Amino acid sequence: MNAEIIAVGSELLLGQIVNTNAQFISKGLADIGVNVFYHTVAGDNQNRLTSVIQTAKSRSDLLIFTGGLGPTKDDLTKETISKVFQKELVHDEVSLSYITNYFLQTNREMTPNNKKQALIIKDSTILPNDNGMAPGMAFIHEGITCILLPGPPSEMKPMFNKYAIPYLHSRLDVHSKLHSRVLRFFGIGESVLETKLQDLIEKQSNPTIAPLASEHEVTIRLTASHSDESAAMKLLDDTEQEILKRAGSYFYGYDDETLERQTMNLLHKKNLTVASAESLTGGLFSKVITDFPGASSVYSGGVVVYSTELKQSMLKVPDTIVDTHGVVSAECAEWMAVEIKNQTKADYGISFTGVAGPDEQEGKSAGTVFIAIADKNQTHSFSLKLAGSRNGIRERAVKHGFRFLNQ
Ligand code: ATP
Ligand code: MG
Repeated sequence: MNAEIIAVGSELLLGQIVNTNAQFISKGLADIGVNVFYHTVAGDNQNRLTSVIQTAKSRSDLLIFTGGLGPTKDDLTKETISKVFQKELVHDEVSLSYITNYFLQTNREMTPNNKKQALIIKDSTILPNDNGMAPGMAFIHEGITCILLPGPPSEMKPMFNKYAIPYLHSRLDVHSKLHSRVLRFFGIGESVLETKLQDLIEKQSNPTIAPLASEHEVTIRLTASHSDESAAMKLLDDTEQEILKRAGSYFYGYDDETLERQTMNLLHKKNLTVASAESLTGGLFSKVITDFPGASSVYSGGVVVYSTELKQSMLKVPDTIVDTHGVVSAECAEWMAVEIKNQTKADYGISFTGVAGPDEQEGKSAGTVFIAIADKNQTHSFSLKLAGSRNGIRERAVKHGFRFLNQ
């Protein structure tokens, strides 16, 4: 099934609102294995909407409309669809009494144009609107499935999840169910990962393999289709194993797991605490870790030591390190990590120093980063060369910090 999402509303074309409905619907369709090939936006204009629908029905077999189901003159989605598909609009008594009741209950006056909302495309399945008045609807005409949803996200989203998805499920191949698994990677770029998996991606069929880069991470969604759950799991396991053979050292978790939460849980389980000394990241590590409720059980606190003077006075970084190696160095990072650990009596000290850019510092280019982790036995430092904007470098450095703490 190839889907096209058609959002209707001139306010979308004028840039007054963002087409978040299309994103929501796309994600929902991806989750049930339906391919979305086009997002289209049309204004509240019958001629242009007509030509959009004609194009859509020539290239897609599932059309999902959102917007323009309301009572006003500019709401003309179902009128236009009815013309293009040559399907009559009829009054639906159930919807009409629902709308009449809605007005009675909310003590509002019902104007004649509200009746328009009870008009439905003949022989369509009604998708009830639990949060508003205009009902949604679904029908199949000459092999093309159309689903009409309202525009307001507070009405559209529950209708989509509660009524449109089950409607689609009942029409998809019910014998094979879809099972998905997301593999999460950090420290490797999307294109490098894709290159490592190229042969698998090229011959993929069941499961499908879909890489996605987001928030300085890469995820791979595997989707297997099988009527038998354990057989689907076996398909997923086999492909996962192949992927991990090639890129296992960058893999950290499944599905909704995050690197940060995983690290926190690990520290919590081992009853260990961490304290931070941040230069490059200006407190970002501290912010991210304290975003988690219950952070106090694993995070004792930290300092932001941005200037060289403060590194020296507060963390006693010696002149020899500053003069010989500079503050952007493994030596300085290690000193900072040990010192913050000792001063706070935390189990781990973590430090961040580097050049966020855009200018270089101490002759070191933007993206040069040193992270050190000290515990009671030893100190490790990690040297990184990160690309990207000033903020990107800092955010990625923090993620690397969580990754190193995790190991
Ligand atoms: P109503 O009965 O409220 O008129 P409707 O189905 O006719 O509902 P529209 O008039 O097209 O929907 O849109 C109503 C509101 O819903 C818009 O002003 C906007 O705030 C929101 N909306 C519409 N389409 C989208 C969209 N694609 N993405 C996000 N929000 C949207
Ligand atoms: Mg409207």
